[in-house]
Amino acid sequence: MTTQADSEAPVIPHPALWAVLYRSSTPFWEAVGRHELTLQRCSDCKTWRMPPRPMCPRCQSAESEWVPVSGRGTIHSWVTYPESPHPAFEAPYAVILVELDEGPRLVSNPVGIAPDELEIGMPVEVVFEDVSDDFALYKFQRAG
Ligand SMILES: [Zn+2]
Repeated sequence: MTTQADSEAPVIPHPALWAVLYRSSTPFWEAVGRHELTLQRCSDCKTWRMPPRPMCPRCQSAESEWVPVSGRGTIHSWVTYPESPHPAFEAPYAVILVELDEGPRLVSNPVGIAPDELEIGMPVEVVFEDVSDDFALYKFQRAG
């Protein structure tokens, strides 16, 4: 019989919900890797599910579809960190909440917009940034 004490690997807490949440958002990140923005939508009542999840909050359906969205929206809110929260993030570091034209809101970072230029209602559009061979991030720049 193998027990946990037999293993050399560190024990990592792994609540069951983490796996569900990760699986739920995998199609989102796979699309971002292809430089596409897609959101999960209920197949039955057409309610957007953001963040992605296994069940519709409106009609409790477990059926969903991944739908391409425009990548265009407006800044709904933002915050600027005057000091870096981590060495990987150069200060001042801004985080924005973008309301897409389709309605759902995404947390992201601005590209090419100085923190003191950020405004609620500013039109923005998605851009993609490859951070490795198999992973990309979505960010937002001023809409052209
Ligand atoms: Zn639904």
